[in-house]
Amino acid sequence: MYKPKMVQQVVEGLTFLYELLAKLFLFDVQKAHHHQPHPKKKSREVVDDDSYGLSWRLAVETNNVRKWRTVPPKCYKHVERYMTGGQYELDLELIVDQILEYANEINVASDGMDAWILDVDDTCISNIPYYKTMRFGCDPFDSSKFKPWIMKGMCPANPEVLRLFNTLIERGFKVFLLTGRYEATLGKITIDNLLNQGFIGYESLILRSAKYKGQSAVSYKSAIRKDIEEQGYKIWGNVGDQWSDLQGECLGQRTFKLPNPMYCVS
Ligand SMILES: [Mg+2]
Repeated sequence: MYKPKMVQQVVEGLTFLYELLAKLFLFDVQKAHHHQPHPKKKSREVVDDDSYGLSWRLAVETNNVRKWRTVPPKCYKHVERYMTGGQYELDLELIVDQILEYANEINVASDGMDAWILDVDDTCISNIPYYKTMRFGCDPFDSSKFKPWIMKGMCPANPEVLRLFNTLIERGFKVFLLTGRYEATLGKITIDNLLNQGFIGYESLILRSAKYKGQSAVSYKSAIRKDIEEQGYKIWGNVGDQWSDLQGECLGQRTFKLPNPMYCVS
């Protein structure tokens, strides 16, 4: 028995089902695309200088770029904005908050042997006024200009690091200031500069003596930290703006890297 109407109904039903499945399938495909969009990769050629500066600064701070001598010229405006536009201070504030969160968990013993190490240049006190004249590190380091700047004894405090310094001392820690500055030529002015910026009450300021002349920052600072430990101190934390402050031996329980995209000391 041939019933054309029935066949037609079956065909219509199948067509409807097919269209429905196709719609559902397409919808799923679209949804999947919506959730996993293809990332738009920026071509290196069209990246603006600010984006490049951000990439470069991140690479420097994470120690992926090493032993660099000058800031790439295309990063000049980015570094200038970073150092003078407020973000640098915000970054220091966040790091100091983290350091104090850690320090507050330490039970300071009554024997006076709980120590911290702080670097001096661009940790406690700042050389930004000098680097403003050097295109924020795009110009090569020039000791004939840097030394007269240091000899003014006018490096301003980093207020956030001064807050850290004072809080550590209040909590009973012994704070050692450790710098690669030469004792013979820069000792007095460094003491004066730290004093006029409010760094009062540290256990010891250690400058580079003739014994360590010409040594790398890593080996010189490692030797000093080892000496501090051999005196019986426990180094709880070590804070500096250079990776060379935070590498080598006797690093302390924790290290804290402060930002510095202007120069590299190795
Ligand atoms: Mg430093």
